[in-house]
Amino acid sequence: MTSRYLTTEQNRKIRQWERWNRNYFIFAFVALTIILVFSSQLGLSSGESWGPLGGLIAVLITPIIVLQLRLACPACGHKIGWQAKLMAPDQCKACGTFLRSKSQ
Ligand SMILES: [Zn+2]
Repeated sequence: MTSRYLTTEQNRKIRQWERWNRNYFIFAFVALTIILVFSSQLGLSSGESWGPLGGLIAVLITPIIVLQLRLACPACGHKIGWQAKLMAPDQCKACGTFLRSKSQ
């Protein structure tokens, strides 16, 4: 079986996804930290009420889930987002295509 690789264009899309995914993850992490540290000063968690704070956390986390769900193998369309963490996996589990271009 010959190993298949992505075209330069497909590779570019995967790398772009990785950049977005990583940048957003860092942004969400920083934002969550700030929110948690300053939540009492901002009046987000007053005693038992976690409503506004919980809502903000959900708003920050939802795009991470959306980003993971959006990543699909360019060769076969198989959703590979959940194999990925911060980076795309090396190889698609469904069709065996290496998720990078051959030149690299
Ligand atoms: Zn595939």
